[in-house]
Amino acid sequence: MTLNADLAPYAAQPATSQGRRFAEPPPSSRTEFQRDRDRIIHSAAFRRLEYKTQVFVNYEGDLFRTRLTHSLEVAQIARSVARNLRLNEDLIEAIALAHDLGHTPFGHAGQDALNACMQSYGGFEHNLQSLRVVDALEERYGAFDGLNLTFETREGILKHCSLENAAKLGAIGQRFIDRKQPSLEAQLVDLADTIAYNNHDIDDGLRSGLLTVEQLAQVDLFARHRHEVEAVFPGIGERRAIYETVRRMINALIVDLIQTSQDRIAQAQPASIDAVRSSGTLIAFSDRMRQDAALMKRFLHENLYRHYLVNRMTTKARRIITALFDAFMEEPNLLPPDYRLPAGQNDMQAQARKIADYIAGMTDRYATREHRRLFMVEEL
Ligand code: MG
Repeated sequence: MTLNADLAPYAAQPATSQGRRFAEPPPSSRTEFQRDRDRIIHSAAFRRLEYKTQVFVNYEGDLFRTRLTHSLEVAQIARSVARNLRLNEDLIEAIALAHDLGHTPFGHAGQDALNACMQSYGGFEHNLQSLRVVDALEERYGAFDGLNLTFETREGILKHCSLENAAKLGAIGQRFIDRKQPSLEAQLVDLADTIAYNNHDIDDGLRSGLLTVEQLAQVDLFARHRHEVEAVFPGIGERRAIYETVRRMINALIVDLIQTSQDRIAQAQPASIDAVRSSGTLIAFSDRMRQDAALMKRFLHENLYRHYLVNRMTTKARRIITALFDAFMEEPNLLPPDYRLPAGQNDMQAQARKIADYIAGMTDRYATREHRRLFMVEEL
């Protein structure tokens, strides 16, 4: 396979890929990274993203983002930046679509609850779980467990990792030990994730009525673009004004990200993906934009993620996850056979991990239903 000359020298190329864990013949009609993306789209974990949420619970309304639409937005934002930097869009799409596969039901509340349950059994980290889904949990192929993705896609999925876990992961964890960077494609998806969720949480927060425009006007990034919209479209309706404002914020973030990254790449002049891995972070916002985005993030933490109505859901989520985990640990025979240890085996750590895999794989509504099935006599 030859190099794709349309891509920059520092981009990921299928021809220089570090390959798959299990050798496979090369694809005949698509690139290795396209094959990764296709495997992700056809996985069961990807379909479940439709019924998992980040802030709002799935059945609270049909217009809120789910993890599926979030992942699509991340892919869109990352690809539009990538084209400008001549990075590998196929790889970017694969990483973006897979980046949240390991998320528990009920968003961050679910992840924190499951991590607390797993404290004595090695903990639970959604990012590591995304890698576990594509490396081990999907059962679709005769020759191997998982999806057998390329090193580059797996490297992008694993955004952060403790040194303790990195040491157990082999080649894919090595960069955390060596303090190296992942590909520019991976760095880009990470920032596109931030752009996507900050902006869609504003949009969902306003639509739900948990946030008001007056509150948001305290945040400079929002206020600036809101004034711009009012100047260009005097008397514009509220709904359209919000969309116009969010649209302009996303655009400003993207333009800033492209410019700053182009400057950094021009300075570092990485000649290959290996040079990228040994450089500092090259995909970045300007200092000003980073501060603006951090203020927005803090605003959302204080006003949306800790809103009392969100807190109520957070508490319910914690109760459901904890109750499920405890019930299964106490009586593993309540579990579907696939999640039980083979008869005669009595390794609590291994059983706890299987329970975490089961719970993490649940959608919001499946977890709620499973909770009823375990605790309500009238529910089968
Ligand atoms: Mg995400």
